[in-house]
Amino acid sequence: MPDCIFCGIAAGELPAAIVSDKPRTLAFRDINPQAPVHVLIIPREHHPHLAALSAAEDDLLGDLVEHAREVAETEGISEEGYRVVFNTGRNGGQTVDHVHAHLLGGRAMSWPPG
Ligand code: 5GP
Ligand code: ZN
Repeated sequence: MPDCIFCGIAAGELPAAIVSDKPRTLAFRDINPQAPVHVLIIPREHHPHLAALSAAEDDLLGDLVEHAREVAETEGISEEGYRVVFNTGRNGGQTVDHVHAHLLGGRAMSWPPG
């Protein structure tokens, strides 16, 4: 997908602080972290939002969530807990139209969201 920043990161054409790299998914640090641990997990393949990813072949969404779980382990936040968020569409606060999971941890999260 041309002009997609996360496709650019996945292709290695744009810089990012890569946390871990898997065949179908990629984890990198958010440029504007909202918690001590704030990692984005994306599919390498371009899907605009969660609904499209959910409809993708071969359980790509499952791979993405599994990758988030692995990063939570390696970042040392599994025991204390963490949050995984898919902001979706305008009301969901999505600003980058390449689906991504936010993995947030290292502090207590408030609920409900603002
Ligand atoms: P959204 O608002 O779509 O759920 O989340 C997009 C996230 O991507 C934001 O938290 C924002 O800080 C992050 N972001 C935007 N551009 C870049 C970038 O070029 N590199 C990295 N690492 N994160 C980015
Ligand atoms: Zn993309």
